[in-house]
Amino acid sequence: MSHYEELYIDGAWRPAGGPKLEVQNPATEGVAGVIGTASPQDVDDAVMAARRAFDGGWGETDPQERAAILDRIVAEFDARRAEMNEVITDEMGCPLSFSQNVQTAMARERFAKAAELARTFEFSETVGTSLVTREPIGVCAFITPWNFPLNQAASKIAYGLAAGCTMVWKPSEVTPMAAVLLAEAIHAAGVPAGVFNMVQGDGPNVGTALSVHPEVDMVSFTGSTRGGVAVAKAAADSVKRVHQELGGKSANLILPSADFESAVAAGTKLCFRNSGQSCQAPSRMLVQKDRMDEAAEIARAAAAEMSVGDPREQGIDLGPVVSKAQWDRIQSLIEAGIAEGATLVTGGPGKPEGLETGHYVRPTVFADVTNDMTIAQEEIFGPVLSILGYEDEADAIRIANDSRYGLATYLSGTDREELLRLSRKIRAGRVYLNYAPARGDVPFGGFRQSGNGREQGVWGLEDFTELKAILGHAAA
Ligand code: NAD
Repeated sequence: MSHYEELYIDGAWRPAGGPKLEVQNPATEGVAGVIGTASPQDVDDAVMAARRAFDGGWGETDPQERAAILDRIVAEFDARRAEMNEVITDEMGCPLSFSQNVQTAMARERFAKAAELARTFEFSETVGTSLVTREPIGVCAFITPWNFPLNQAASKIAYGLAAGCTMVWKPSEVTPMAAVLLAEAIHAAGVPAGVFNMVQGDGPNVGTALSVHPEVDMVSFTGSTRGGVAVAKAAADSVKRVHQELGGKSANLILPSADFESAVAAGTKLCFRNSGQSCQAPSRMLVQKDRMDEAAEIARAAAAEMSVGDPREQGIDLGPVVSKAQWDRIQSLIEAGIAEGATLVTGGPGKPEGLETGHYVRPTVFADVTNDMTIAQEEIFGPVLSILGYEDEADAIRIANDSRYGLATYLSGTDREELLRLSRKIRAGRVYLNYAPARGDVPFGGFRQSGNGREQGVWGLEDFTELKAILGHAAA
């Protein structure tokens, strides 16, 4: 039986007390499904269930026991993975192959890694005569976006469980359906009642209710900088911890020593991945000024190789963007690029030919972009690449860091020492050298307005803990 119109609270599914919400399929503009949203009472019930489960001892369970539960979640995840892939594609529009190879692959890895960590992490250490322990922070609220509907949540749920926290998750109201399948997997894995709860709904109502709730000890938010700021303000009165994973406008610095053609082509394709709807998308490409025309030509050819179309069809690289609102925003930013004098190399306003139904965007490349232009400063969250020119190394680093964001920066070159030296000058949470693949065992998070705190690896686990010093533990 489908639980789409229900909420998962205190170990059971129950009807949602708030209004129903239609979920749109961005490829067909038809209805992908209907969900039930939480009433204020539902939110309170979910938080109080998490509070009871925490006070009832979940935080004191043996980490090995928590690891075993995480293993079982992986198995239940696998049992539902094919269905999850289809639901993600239907609700957010990414190609089915991307749902399979990236979306659910990454989410699954979070649970597997968290199980491994729960087994090996040292939750206490001796300092002189004192014992310093890391204890679970308590009841967490997780608020997550639509662009990676399960993965962003999995970083929180898996690591929160490993740390011994209890939780209430609010998925994005734009992609709430895959979340139901994940909650079903967690239930089937035998997570004790109240440890994991899921409520549906929008940000201003359900998200705010979680952020202000006095029984929530931590809010971990992934989404826009605007949303993250609202959550932090709402959370301030109760002095809860606020973890923020926010927007990005990542620079992609092609150094003179790089294999220029392959670095520009790969950077263009990476920018268009998930239709540009990735917080780490390398959307500002920096090339030497005198190679601008060459870069534009390579990027144009790379964009032409990318197919746009029905995300359920084989061989499609870009599906539609997630919603009409997102499509409108991308169009207005493309218009701003043209109005502010950037050179439109390929793509541009409107829909790709033959794709009138669905929120499809033409893969777009701008050259001769300067860093003060709107398209260089705003996170577009669509398949739009800006190419900027730099004079010399110092100028390149200055432009790369000249952003209110600091999530990731990409560096391409062949001199390892130069790459490391420049990496240290970059103000961002991740530096990818020569498009190194992403990993789940190193920290992920942002400098500046890209956020606060880190997810993944031991650092991700530590962020769900409080430190306690027990003095006089051993004889002096
Ligand atoms: P969004 O901020 O609109 O929504 C994210 C979540 O926050 C949703 O669940 C939404 O309901 C909720 N929300 C919105 N306003 C809220 C409020 N006032 N109070 C409480 N909750 C609120 O973001 P989005 O459009 O879903 O996602 C795209 C954004 O997410 C982009 O900016 C992208 O860069 C960012 N993102 C960041 C990371 C990261 O790890 N740094 C990862 C993925 C996406």
